Amino acid sequence: MRQFLTVMSLLICSYAAIAKQPQKHHKVLELMGSRFEISAFHSDPQLAWDGINAAVNEITRIERLISSWDPNSQTSLINENAGIKPVKVDAELFQLIQRAVQISAITDGAFDISYASMDRIWQFDGTMATMPVAEVVAQAKSRIGYQKIQLNPAKQEVYLKDKGMKIGFGAIGKGYAAQKAKEKMFSLGIKSGVVNAAGDLIAWGVDIDGETFRVGIADPKEKGKVLLWLKVKNTSVVTSGDYERFVMFDGVRYAHIIDLRTGYPTTGIKSVTIVSNNPELADALSTSVFVLGVEKGIYLINQLDGVECLIVTDDDKLVTSDRLEINNKS
Ligand code: ADP
Ligand code: MG
Repeated sequence: MRQFLTVMSLLICSYAAIAKQPQKHHKVLELMGSRFEISAFHSDPQLAWDGINAAVNEITRIERLISSWDPNSQTSLINENAGIKPVKVDAELFQLIQRAVQISAITDGAFDISYASMDRIWQFDGTMATMPVAEVVAQAKSRIGYQKIQLNPAKQEVYLKDKGMKIGFGAIGKGYAAQKAKEKMFSLGIKSGVVNAAGDLIAWGVDIDGETFRVGIADPKEKGKVLLWLKVKNTSVVTSGDYERFVMFDGVRYAHIIDLRTGYPTTGIKSVTIVSNNPELADALSTSVFVLGVEKGIYLINQLDGVECLIVTDDDKLVTSDRLEINNKS
C-alpha cells in the first residue's frame, strides 16, 4: 500500500510539473525619468520576481552612471570638466561613449551625445512660450560636435574639448538599460520576458501561450489606438515619437529631437520605429532618422543589416524600409 501511495504521489507531482504553465509577472515603475514595464514569463513566481528585481537594480545602477542630471554621476563629472581636464571613468561608461561616437560617425552626426549643451535652450514640457533667440541657439550649437569628444582608451579617460560642452544619453540610455536588464533576467533563468522602457522594447522567448510576441505600434493620430502590429522574436522594437513631447511655434510642430546642423528641433516626422536585435543601436537610430528625415533616414536603414524602420510623417504617411515585416492580424 505504501509503495502504491508513493507511486501515486510521484505521478501527481510529475503531472503538476507538466501542468504548471508559465505565468506573466510584471512591474510598472518610473526609472530614468520614464515609465518602465518589466515582464517575466515563468512558472515559478519566486524566480520571476528575482528576475524583475534584478532588472530594476540593474537599470538603477546604469542610471547612476549615465545620468547627466545627477550631479554625482561620472557623466556629470565629465561635463563639469569640459575644457578643463580629462576624466577617468568606468570601462562600461567609456565603452558606451565609444559606441555612441561610432553611431555619430555612421549617421553623419545626426546622432550626437554632445547635443546636450542644447538642453538648456529647448524645453519640451510645455513651459516654452517663445522661440529662443537665434544668437543663443548659434552659441549653444558651436559647442556641439562628437569630433570634440576625446577618448583615451589606454587611460580610459574622456575629455570634452570645449568649455560649456556637455554630453547626455537621452537618445541611447534607455535602449542600453533595456538590453542590460534583459541580460540580467536571462542569466537568472527568465527565458521569456519583455522590458519596455517607455517605448524602447526588447522581447525574448515566447508569450505565455507559446506564441511569438507581437508589439502594437501606437497611432500618432489617436492615443491608445494601434496602427499596426509587428512580430518580435528575440528582437527589440524602439519607437521615438514626438506626440508626447513637442513645442508649437507659428503653427509648426517641433519634435524633442535636435537637428544639430541647425540647432533647431526636427520637423516633418511624428514617429520613428526601429526593429533590430540591438536595442541600444535601435534607440540611437530612431533619433537619427528623425534628424535625417524620411529619404536619408530610410536610405541609411536599408544599408544596415538586420535593422528595419517604420516612419509616420507629419501628414500621417507611412514609410517603411525594404524588408520590414508587418503582421496585421490583431
Ligand atoms: P524618446 O526619449 O521619446 O524615446 P529618443 O530616444 O529619440 O526619444 O530620445 C530623445 C532624446 O534624445 C531627447 O529628449 C534628448 O535628450 C536627446 N537628443 C535630442 N536630440 C538628439 C540628437 N540629435 N542626438 C542625440 N541625442 C539627442
Ligand atoms: Mg532614441
